[in-house]
This record gives sequence, structure tokens and C-alpha cells, in this order.
Amino acid sequence: MTETVTNWAGNITYLAKELHRPHSLTALAGLVAGSAKVRVLGSGHSFNEIAEPGPGGVLLSLAALPDEVDVDTAARTVRVGGGVRYAELARRVHAHGLALPNMASLPHISVAGSVATGTHGSGVGNGPLASAVREVEIVTADGSTVVIGRGDERFGGAVTSLGALGVVTALTLDLEPSFEVEQHVFTELPLAGLDFETVAATAYSVSLFTDWREPGFRQVWLKRRTDQPLPDFPWAAPAVEKMHPVPGMPAVNCTEQFGVAGPWHERLPHFRAEFTPSSGTELQSEYLMPRPYAVDALYAIDGIRDAVAGVLQTCEVRTVAADEQWLSPAYGRDTVALHFTWVEDTEAVLPVVRRLEEALGAFDARPHWGKVFAVPAAVLRGLYPRLDDFRVLARELDPAGKFANAFVQGVLAD
Ligand SMILES: Cc1cc2nc3c(=O)[nH]c(=O)nc-3n(C[C@H](O)[C@H](O)[C@H](O)COP(=O)(O)OP(=O)(O)OC[C@H]3O[C@@H](n4cnc5c(N)ncnc54)[C@H](O)[C@@H]3O)c2cc1C
Repeated sequence: MTETVTNWAGNITYLAKELHRPHSLTALAGLVAGSAKVRVLGSGHSFNEIAEPGPGGVLLSLAALPDEVDVDTAARTVRVGGGVRYAELARRVHAHGLALPNMASLPHISVAGSVATGTHGSGVGNGPLASAVREVEIVTADGSTVVIGRGDERFGGAVTSLGALGVVTALTLDLEPSFEVEQHVFTELPLAGLDFETVAATAYSVSLFTDWREPGFRQVWLKRRTDQPLPDFPWAAPAVEKMHPVPGMPAVNCTEQFGVAGPWHERLPHFRAEFTPSSGTELQSEYLMPRPYAVDALYAIDGIRDAVAGVLQTCEVRTVAADEQWLSPAYGRDTVALHFTWVEDTEAVLPVVRRLEEALGAFDARPHWGKVFAVPAAVLRGLYPRLDDFRVLARELDPAGKFANAFVQGVLAD
């Protein structure tokens, strides 16, 4: 490639031959039809080679396409273009008095890329972001367009698809009436005696943060919808100052705290759209497992606490409701998600990732598709009971494997 293209974190430099930014859907379809290997680059917030088409392949960015966000207030849906990011989508949906049910920790990420990898926020009643999607429009290998909606038997594979089916040019999402959220932060919740089910259900969205220097949580973030009861949280003390989940980072980067009510899209993400999210110099991993395993899994990590703490910036514990996307890490099971923001040092982090995966081995942990992991492909395949159905769908829409990069082939190989 004449220009060097990296992911947001800078740990991946794409080997693709070219990066194209088509200005129209016709040009995009022509590029897809005329190329042998293609992948789409969303906002580049994944930490692994999931978007890499390989040497000689073509990367497509949808950033130069018109920013389509069409809200249908009567139907309470929005049709959103394949390159649009959540920050823009949320602003325009809110302007119509409507809301998305949930958001990830940051609004900087593209909608299509996020739902492709199973991206999620938190909340025992909140599925991954893909669960709001009702229809997806895909430009497939020959340049033609396929629309797959709920009710189509292929829908379960069509949204959280790892970018393996084609170029997602539009998605239609369900909306609900706009709502307000307050954010309350507490500090120092011990691991000993943790009633995880109760704690996780105290608010619409709950996150626990720890640096694993102690067996407990430095911070607890509760996001309460103002149309739901005020949570009682007797297990930890209210924060006395505004906080950032990563120790040492400025709280000004974070969404408003101290119970100040505000619109859903300015409270559900942890990080403000106009600031750098998280620490900005990092790697990330995340493992999603059945929620009943939460406490045992936390004790398993506590058992290797020193190793983890040595390369960790922060660890976040969230919940995700079960969903029906075949390749979703939350597929078919109410989930606890254990996330790790590591230091930006692949060599130091990878051995700890392997130890962590060993420690979590008994819990059927599915790694986040967009983050660093070392789980062998054979083990991964055993974690997804509908993988064969996804293979059939991928063969139907992409018979020659134009979108099947090394990452996807590793997962789909029979
Ligand atoms: C600071 C930070 C915080 C994060 N917080 C969270 C969080 O709270 N929760 C969580 O679950 N994850 C989180 N993530 C991970 C992130 O949500 C995922 O990596 C997500 O995939 C990012 O979307 P993207 O558009 O940047 O994807 P990319 O990395 O650009 O692409 C991801 C995949 O989607 C495919 N793709 C993208 N767009 C299209 C399209 N239009 N058509 C077809 N395929 C497409 C790509 O080919 C690739 O396979 C975070 C990441 C960062 C950097």
C-alpha cells in the first residue's frame, strides 16, 4: 500500500495492497466485483487482524460515502449507512426524541463494524448492540445487493458476521422513546462476599473496574435510567470525585457522573465523543462466559492476580443478555464479560493472555472477536453450536471466499 494504514491502537499495520474510499455505492459494488480479496475497514477499533484482507487484497473504507441516517419516527426505526459511527447516529436519533437501547463504552466506533464483532455495553437486560438490528443490506462478492431481515432464516448469521459475508452498506435498527440516565460511581467493592447477580442487577447498566492489585473493585459505575428506581448500593462508598476507569487518566474524558441526569447517548458510553476514549495507548482482550460462572471466574483471575496486574491498566466486568446471532459471544446465554485494557506491549501482554485463557478454560469463555486472544481455532469452533449454519451462509453469499481472510478461515475451517 502506498499509504500506511493501521488500526486505532497502532498494533496492526494492514498488509493490503490498496485502501479504497469509494464515494458512491455503484463505485463500491464495482470495486468489490473486480477484486479477488476484499475486507472492509470500519473505524479500525479492533485489536487484531480481523479486518486484514492479506497481501494483495483490497481494503475498503466506507467513510467517504454519504453519512446516511434516516429516522422513521412512526416505525421507530433508523436506517444507517455502513460507514456511520455511533456518535453521529446517536445525535441524530436523539434529535427525533428516540433512543438506542444501549451503547458500548465509546461512541467513536462504526455501527457496522461494532455489530460485526458482537460489541456490547452492559446490563443484565441488554443484549449486544447487534440485538437492535432488524435488517442488514450487504453488497456480496459479485457486486449485487442482498437484504436480510428478521424472519429470514439466514438472519442469525447476517449481523455478527465478522465481515465475512460482504460489505454491509446499510443497517436498520429498532429504536425506543428517548430516555435519561444518571451515572453514579462507587469505590472499593471487595471480591469477598460479592453477590454478583444482585450487584449486576442494581441498575440499567453496571460496570465493575479493578486493577487486580487487590482482590476487589476500585470502581463501580451504575447507569440508572431515570424512569427506573434509584438503586440502593450498600456494598461500597460513593465516589468523592469524578473518576476515569483507567488510573491516572483525566475524568474530563468521561461522561458526566454524580447522578446528573442527561440524555441516554451522553451517559451510556463511559467516554465522551470529543475526547480520546480509554487510555489511548493500549491493547484490549475480553472473554464472555455464562453469567453463573462470574464469581468463580473472578476468583480464577484472582489466582493469577500478580501476573495480570503487571501488564494491566484496568479490567472491566459487565453483563450482556443472551442474543440470537450465531457468532455472537453472547449467543444463547446470559453472559458476564471480563474485559482487560492492557499496556501497549504485545510481547509482554501475550504470555499473560495465554495464562488468563488457561485460568478461564473451565468456563466456556468466548473471546471478543475484535480484541487480542490466543484461543486455538479448534477450541473456538467448539464454542459456537451454529457455526455450521454460518459456514453454509458464507458459502451461499461468498462462494469463492473473497471476504474470507486468514482470521475468518481460521474460525470457519472444517
Ligand atoms: C477504546 C476502545 C473501547 C472499546 N470498547 C468496547 C466496548 O465497550 N464493548 C465492546 O464490545 N467492544 C469495545 N471495543 C471493541 C470495538 O467495539 C470492536 O473492535 C468493534 O469491532 C469496532 O468497530 P470498528 O468499526 O472500529 O471495527 P473494525 O475494527 O474497523 O472492523 C471490525 C470488523 O468489522 C468488519 N466491518 C467493519 N465495517 C464493515 C462493513 N461496513 N461491512 C462489512 N464488514 C465490516 C471489518 O472487516 C472487521 O472484520 C472497544 C475498542 C476500543 C479501541
